[in-house]
Amino acid sequence: MACLFCKIAAGEIPCTKVYEDEQFLAFRDIQPKAKSHILLIPKKHIPTLNDLAEDDTELAGKWLQTAKKIAELEGLKENGYRTVINCNQDAGQEVFHIHIHILGGEKLSTIN
Ligand code: 5GP
Ligand code: ZN
Repeated sequence: MACLFCKIAAGEIPCTKVYEDEQFLAFRDIQPKAKSHILLIPKKHIPTLNDLAEDDTELAGKWLQTAKKIAELEGLKENGYRTVINCNQDAGQEVFHIHIHILGGEKLSTIN
């Protein structure tokens, strides 16, 4: 198994865990781009958003619901937060195991 986030999900590489259930794991980004920067992954290995299959529709819905739950747990709900999914090179995806970035805890610069 070569995937970094699969290794983190398997407990082979340590992380600062924020949330875990049967299907998902959330942990703090090692190089935070905001005061609060969490990565939320499905434990299932899916390399990019392009690889999300029709069969993953239920998982994708739960993934987003879990992002919402984590934002609430982290105290970001009221002031707000940003969710980002990078896909492939133009977006600068570095780790090829899908993840939602959850960023907040401070006023973020606008992206559009
Ligand atoms: P991407 O650019 O693929 O959307 O984001 C990958 C993210 O994973 C980056 O923000 C990077 O800082 C983070 N990251 C890379 N390696 C590790 C690691 O070993 N542990 C943790 N917690 N985050 C990592
Ligand atoms: Zn993986």
